[in-house]
Amino acid sequence: MRNTTNLRIPGPTPVPADILEAVGRPMVNHRGREFAALVQRVTERLKEFYLTKGEVLVLSASGTGGMEAAVVNTLSPGDRVLAVSIGSFGDRFAAIAETYGAQVTALAYEWGQAANAEDVRKALAAEPEIKAVLVTHNETSTGVTNPLEEIAKVVREADRLLIVDAVSSLGAIPMDMDGWGLDVVVTGSQKGWMVPPGLTFVCLSERAWKANESARMPRFYLDLARARDMLQKGQTPWTPAMSIFFGLDVALERMVAEGLESIHARHANIGRMVREGVKALGLELLASDERYASNTVTAVRCPEGVEISALRTMLEDEHGVVLAGGQSKLSGKIFRIGHLGMVSEDDIRDALGALAEVLPRVGYSIPVG
Ligand SMILES: *Cc1c(COP(=O)(O)O)cnc(C)c1O
Repeated sequence: MRNTTNLRIPGPTPVPADILEAVGRPMVNHRGREFAALVQRVTERLKEFYLTKGEVLVLSASGTGGMEAAVVNTLSPGDRVLAVSIGSFGDRFAAIAETYGAQVTALAYEWGQAANAEDVRKALAAEPEIKAVLVTHNETSTGVTNPLEEIAKVVREADRLLIVDAVSSLGAIPMDMDGWGLDVVVTGSQKGWMVPPGLTFVCLSERAWKANESARMPRFYLDLARARDMLQKGQTPWTPAMSIFFGLDVALERMVAEGLESIHARHANIGRMVREGVKALGLELLASDERYASNTVTAVRCPEGVEISALRTMLEDEHGVVLAGGQSKLSGKIFRIGHLGMVSEDDIRDALGALAEVLPRVGYSIPVG
């Protein structure tokens, strides 16, 4: 085992040393002035990444908690929703809505494909009772980014709510909440934000807050109206994951210094570098149309005869490179390389070099040329 790890999974992502140090700070009063100032600073900065005038609420939960908050705060049991799914996280969004009594119409695609805005338009026209559309911006299980701006356009035209899982996209790839007319946008601390897991961020549009007034799904811990009221005082309804807040404060400072556009450009460049590198090894992407291949995670088809678990173990034990496997029906069929948050060209060169070294030893011969 090496003592330096190149953690190339799509979350949790590597945490820079200064952020880790902040996470270890002593506790303060979570209802005191110092913490209130931190909460207000953090939520103001998050707006710059969401590109919204709305309040960004920071909840203590993983990303799935944010997805659940998005659903239960805007819908009522019996409401019809269209769940667009291109993979495992899209299915999860549908399952949450179903659990709370929504009537879910699925618009599901083969894993590896992106959703199509025209299909969404047709589905909404066919069912005028559909109140909301659930969509994953970047499907982490397949390495595919949906054309969210186009989907948002048809949802706005049809005048429904658009609820977006942006857990593995926001802060890394372009998304414009107000400009595109998104209604609820959820993300999580352990993905593009370079912070440990523990916080999820949720932002509602004016339309979504209006829907909140009549939304009757049960909620207590994840009650967003309560969170919004407490935010006025720089507080959260319940004791928050303060250590992660300390880290987030430093992370946002770093991100503001790098700049939104530079962060997006870095991810686009690295995404391209990963795809080119993988293809140069003769491997195939799971993304069926490379225009929709994700700039935060790349899913690679397992070559014939190679056992993914053996590949991943050798990469980790001998090179310190940690890759992710496939989720649910893609288990054993793909491996995934995470490249969001703190990631450099050197990290990718190191990971690709390790792959090139290990692949021939697990039964794959790299094509020459
Ligand atoms: C990571 C992730 C989530 C949330 O997962 P948690 O484990 O609950 O943080 C949701 N959606 C997508 C697309 C993700 O990548």
